[in-house]
Amino acid sequence: MLRARPLGEADRIIRLFTSERGKLDAVAKGVRRAKSHFAGRLEFGNEVELQMHHGRSLDVIVAADILRAPWERLVEPERFITAQLVAELIDAFCEPDLAVPEVYALLCGMLGAIAATEEPRALVPRFSLRLLHALGIEPPLDLCIRCGRDLVESRAWVDPQAGGFACARCRENWRDLVELDAEDLHNLQALGAPRGAVGAVLRARPRVASAIEEIVTHHLGRKPKAAS
Ligand SMILES: [Zn+2]
Repeated sequence: MLRARPLGEADRIIRLFTSERGKLDAVAKGVRRAKSHFAGRLEFGNEVELQMHHGRSLDVIVAADILRAPWERLVEPERFITAQLVAELIDAFCEPDLAVPEVYALLCGMLGAIAATEEPRALVPRFSLRLLHALGIEPPLDLCIRCGRDLVESRAWVDPQAGGFACARCRENWRDLVELDAEDLHNLQALGAPRGAVGAVLRARPRVASAIEEIVTHHLGRKPKAAS
């Protein structure tokens, strides 16, 4: 469950990200009452198996069984803000009623990893790249976003306006771009590698982390709220 908003006296509209239908809104009736049978189940970050029936406008959640409940560990502030950021990005980037199994797997993996780490924010750059990849909007990490040439000089410039990385020739026209050196570029490419791939890394160098943040902002059209 990604987020919720109140509906009437005792109900909530829950925004879910599901394996079968992607992002969708559903009504949980009576969920705000003290004795609700949904108590502790439809909480932020929980993975639940749902039974629903079609309502007039929105589907209605009839039953919810917990599969995984990282909630207790996610309430720690750093973890919570990171999990909120993850939920916000998935909510913003994904279309309603469109299954994206790769994003579902990424979300579950990320929430589990956030719950288990002391440095949750360090997981965000790689998550962001994998999310853009799953959605088919990841910029090439070894080619110039402007001219398509290989980034051969082992250097690249962060080009937020184009949403990617520019080569030495193209950056001539855009003087204020931030430079990534050979180690940064290597780190960026390793961060973008699929899970379990040889040379894949989890941790971003500082310049790389802010470069990825800028690319996400480019696609989102604004800074994520949970990031500020
Ligand atoms: Zn170029």
